[in-house]
Amino acid sequence: DMEGISGISEWDDVLPGRRHYEAGRKLLTLDVNAAIEGALEAGATQIIVNESHGPMNNLILEELHPAADVIRGFFKPLCMMQGIDE
Ligand SMILES: [Zn+2]
Repeated sequence: DMEGISGISEWDDVLPGRRHYEAGRKLLTLDVNAAIEGALEAGATQIIVNESHGPMNNLILEELHPAADVIRGFFKPLCMMQGIDE
């Protein structure tokens, strides 16, 4: 998700087409990369990033850590909760 990540402070940061959206995408990508690096340092052997903000295609893929696989796009009926079980 984008709300709550580093540097996000207003709707213009997270809504496609708004004036700070591209900067918001950059912040999202940097935060996700930091999480990936932390997971790898802790011993993770597989990284899957599940995009879930808005249209679920906000990450800048060419800047994403190469260790990650990404699930993106609006085809998950439960959005960010898709795949969670009891
Ligand atoms: Zn969101």
